Amino acid sequence: MFCRKCGNEISDNARFCNLCGEVVKKSEELEIPEMTLEESITFVEKLKYKYNEIEKLERQVMDNEALLSRLRSSGSSG
Ligand SMILES: [Zn+2]
Repeated sequence: MFCRKCGNEISDNARFCNLCGEVVKKSEELEIPEMTLEESITFVEKLKYKYNEIEKLERQVMDNEALLSRLRSSGSSG
């Protein structure tokens, strides 16, 4: 491939252009940080925790909605 800055030809696995020093990135490549097994486990645990928090909130909203509809139905026929 070629450097997008100076046009110098660089090898496909090079990270920098050896002529101008421009960082070479493949545009379609996703940047996934390298994680150790332990790091990825804590990452997943954090996601699980967040998901649990969201589930709790959803349950609260559902409870509130049930309460509201009960109040509405009892209030309308009075
Ligand atoms: Zn270059």
